[in-house]
Amino acid sequence: MNVFEKIIKGEIPCKKVLENDKFLAFYDIAPRAPIHILAIPKQGYKDFNAMPKELLAEMSDFIIEVVKKVGIYESGYRLITNIGNDGGQEVPHFHYHILGGAKLRWEALA
Ligand code: AMP
Repeated sequence: MNVFEKIIKGEIPCKKVLENDKFLAFYDIAPRAPIHILAIPKQGYKDFNAMPKELLAEMSDFIIEVVKKVGIYESGYRLITNIGNDGGQEVPHFHYHILGGAKLRWEALA
């Protein structure tokens, strides 16, 4: 079982931001921005490639709720999802990184 599955089951604690029957959002343990939240579906799909499109659409609404809740809907934020080896994905359970709370840098990553 991967770490996000353990978080969903409550076997590992998380600092929860928002939850509903399908999705969970919690603060990243190693933040890369003043606000760094992970949003995950409770159903396990390996990555973006595997996500059903209807669930992605529902997740978009959930993310909007999250960014409104933490106050970055207007100021702006960045959504990232790492996919596979070149994408640098570490946890094989689809997730968006939601980054904000400051003007984020944007530079070459490779
Ligand atoms: P990725 O490299 O896109 O798979 O991102 C995995 C993210 O999960 C990293 O940013 C980690 O810091 C984060 N992470 C790993 N374990 C935990 C945990 N127990 N609680 C919160 N975030 C975690």
